[in-house]
Amino acid sequence: MRRIAFFPGSFDPITKGHEDIVRRALPMFDKIIVAVGVNSSKNEMFPLDQRQNWIEKTFSECPSVEVINYKGLTTEACIKHQAKFILRGLRNSNDYEYEKSIAMMNQAMEPNIETIYLNTHPEWAAISSTIVRDIIKNKGNAQPFLASGVQL
Ligand code: ADP
Repeated sequence: MRRIAFFPGSFDPITKGHEDIVRRALPMFDKIIVAVGVNSSKNEMFPLDQRQNWIEKTFSECPSVEVINYKGLTTEACIKHQAKFILRGLRNSNDYEYEKSIAMMNQAMEPNIETIYLNTHPEWAAISSTIVRDIIKNKGNAQPFLASGVQL
């Protein structure tokens, strides 16, 4: 059986924190699907194809990473892509509480899908896409916080 992980998020844009989670998870899974959620209620800064393109560039040398987008329930998308694991990153206790509720609901809906968490590397623990977007809006230099494939 192939171990397939689904890494969902907005990735608006993909940061060093996201990149680190995927790279550290590479040895654990046969395939990691980085899945950009299409969320109509979120006001995104970067268009979907731009966000996907940056993720593809970031992992261009990783044959086991696939980039997709999806709408609707994460668990449904996991089933469609035969992913038995949802990968998430944890920065702090707020992330933990938030992720725990989602993971419990997902487990209630799909007991065969397990959520796996990795703690963020301390170097990237303060990075969030929200803060990065703020830096970009205010014309600051966000490049040190962005994944390797992002060229603003
Ligand atoms: P969402 O729209 O679900 O909040 P994000 O794109 O912000 O999606 O994040 C996707 C995943 O990456 C989440 O599990 C989030 O906790 C994790 N993540 C975000 N920033 C970091 C970081 N700096 N270090 C580790 N994990 C992170």
